[in-house]
Amino acid sequence: MISTEEALQLVLASASKLDPENVATTQAIGRVLAEDIFADRQMPPFDRVTMDGIAICFASYQDETTLFPIEAVGPAGAPQLTLKDASYCIEIMTGASLPKGTDTVVRYEDLDKSEAGVRILKPVRKGQNIHWKGSDHSENSILLKAGLEIKAIDINVLATVGKSSVNVMKSPKVAVISSGDELVDIDHTPAEYQIRKSNVHMISARLNQLGVESKCFHFKDKEEEIFSEMTTILDQYDVLVMSGGVSKGKFDFIPEVLDRIGFKKGFHKVAQRPGKPFWFGTKEEKTVFAFPGNPVSTLACFQKYFLPWLEKTTGQVFPILKVVLSEDVLFKPSLTYYAQAFIEQKSDGRFYATVSHGNGSGDIVNPSSMHGFLEFPPEKELFKAGEIFDFRPFYPIYK
Ligand code: AMP
Ligand code: MG
Repeated sequence: MISTEEALQLVLASASKLDPENVATTQAIGRVLAEDIFADRQMPPFDRVTMDGIAICFASYQDETTLFPIEAVGPAGAPQLTLKDASYCIEIMTGASLPKGTDTVVRYEDLDKSEAGVRILKPVRKGQNIHWKGSDHSENSILLKAGLEIKAIDINVLATVGKSSVNVMKSPKVAVISSGDELVDIDHTPAEYQIRKSNVHMISARLNQLGVESKCFHFKDKEEEIFSEMTTILDQYDVLVMSGGVSKGKFDFIPEVLDRIGFKKGFHKVAQRPGKPFWFGTKEEKTVFAFPGNPVSTLACFQKYFLPWLEKTTGQVFPILKVVLSEDVLFKPSLTYYAQAFIEQKSDGRFYATVSHGNGSGDIVNPSSMHGFLEFPPEKELFKAGEIFDFRPFYPIYK
């Protein structure tokens, strides 16, 4: 049986980037830029007034007794005005283009306005309250680089340079497949010996959150049916994320069928808990992650293997945090142990993780009060409070 690290290396070796695709910028959040983004003009594109007040020619200002009669009013969104008489001022609004003949803006709060004009009450610095044309970026300079995972703040930049659509790394099309005769749909009332499918919906919801298109399918535990349905699904999907049917049971047909279809097995069974019966393989451009069916096993494998594979395929980043163990943990088998844990930040600024095992890998509810998996390596049995371990969050903890 191979180790989790060997398994991860095999999974990553099979990952390759897909061609970029063009998507609407408003839909691009969470996707990875596949092109550099350039300034379409100088930034800012004109001398932009940053305060509501008056624009003056600084040379005309002596002291607080200087009176500036108002020559005109300049709203934002109007063509640039010109100050004709340098001893006058123009009332000017935030976002307006600085009038020709002026070089300084004084905000209303620092003015005394009367019928005759405006006096300035506070000391003035030449050039104040102006965001100068081109002072942030010159035309054609690179603003965002290919490879960046697009966040809401980046959509600002895309929009400002007029990119209504953008090239992003293509995400694979994923079929999420449950298998097992004991499983019924969410809206069915299960018989006493049945359960509802749950983990496939968890996976497909998470994929949806990551901008990855997916669809759920279900296989009965019938070898020939699995064979023909899988063949059809493979025509339309790049990746199969499966759950169930990969253990030693008499009706666990998935590995056999994958073999018959011509998949090359990367490995079957990894020295870990939960998730040991994981089967992974590829056939040309197609990839199959066949996870064991218990929801916690499925989740552990998804986090450890599928997300890094997706990271290599699309460039999306799934950080692994380093956290401090808050209490001793004993785990005797020489397997990598993925323990559910919650984390909290303490006054020393570090994150501490506390393990809550729940009732094993079939306990569907326990993960909902946890934040992610701690990874305990197989070489040791006792993991001591204060030691540092990898932590894979179930979801982006900083949203
Ligand atoms: P298997 O990996 O097929 O041996 O299934 C292991 C356990 O996980 C069994 O108790 C299944 O009933 C359960 N299981 C399998 N698939 C799912 C699923 N989609 N949702 C929830 N539980 C499942
Ligand atoms: Mg099964």
